[in-house]
Amino acid sequence: MTSRGYLGQDVVVRFAPSPNGLLHLGHAYAACVAYDYARDRGGKLLLRIEDIDLGRSKPEFVDAILADLQWLGLDWDGPVIFQSERLASYTKAGEQLKAKGLLYPCFCTRSSMRAVQQDEGVVVGPDGPIYPGTCRNLSPSDRSQRMKAEPHSWRLDVEEAICLSGDLFWHDETHGKQTADPRALGDVVLIPKETPVSYHLAVTLDDARDEITHVVRGEDLFASTHIHRLLQALLNLPIPQYIHHPVLLDQTGVKLSKSRDSASLAVLREAGRPGYLIADHLRKNIFPVGITLSKG
Ligand code: GLU
Repeated sequence: MTSRGYLGQDVVVRFAPSPNGLLHLGHAYAACVAYDYARDRGGKLLLRIEDIDLGRSKPEFVDAILADLQWLGLDWDGPVIFQSERLASYTKAGEQLKAKGLLYPCFCTRSSMRAVQQDEGVVVGPDGPIYPGTCRNLSPSDRSQRMKAEPHSWRLDVEEAICLSGDLFWHDETHGKQTADPRALGDVVLIPKETPVSYHLAVTLDDARDEITHVVRGEDLFASTHIHRLLQALLNLPIPQYIHHPVLLDQTGVKLSKSRDSASLAVLREAGRPGYLIADHLRKNIFPVGITLSKG
């Protein structure tokens, strides 16, 4: 028998890794939290491979994710979902937002943005520097001229969007009722230059499409939820509950990450270490020397 989440639905949770590197202990911890959240409630756990960055995603990393989860003793329900198979739905949503006048083309390059930041100072948000709005107020003729000649991304005009959406809230199981503050991240890119869709747009659409009732993910993504909540309102999508769990930190207090070469699960797996025991230790908050859990 399956238990019911709030609002009477069956609980559906997802684990959503990006296959752009090997998973590490932080991912194993996140996978265990998501798995246990679903299974403890008789719910489902979906596995969604977030491979929208077509340049950096590699099939060998997908294979490693599947092997890692099996090694940890974590199974999932239904077929593995690949975001790369859903590109048309992201494009459609992007077009809807453009039709509402909520996206504008941005011609800034990394170096032009660095120069503006040096000249005018940087406002730093929870996810890094906030876009200063350089391309927001270009004249329509400038815009159409430049669109013909220059590569561009598409940014969300957060002020316009907030005018449409009004005040927004979400229920966070860890932090209680939250008021969304999408301004905190500024005009985020929803359609990048180099990849078909941004994380923010793809993940919000997919959580709705996969009927996720409880988004269980690391607290490093807490700030993103402000934007996701806004996108739900603009695209008329259901609102899941959120559980932002603590994340694993290294000796310097920084989140474990693929780019900082944190020890991979694949190395432990191939060395013959028992995955079920590692999962058991993570569940009991027993970590290798130097690794700690953020305070939440
Ligand atoms: N794909 C994201 C990552 O690997 C996680 C997305 C999410 O849980 O919302 O960090």
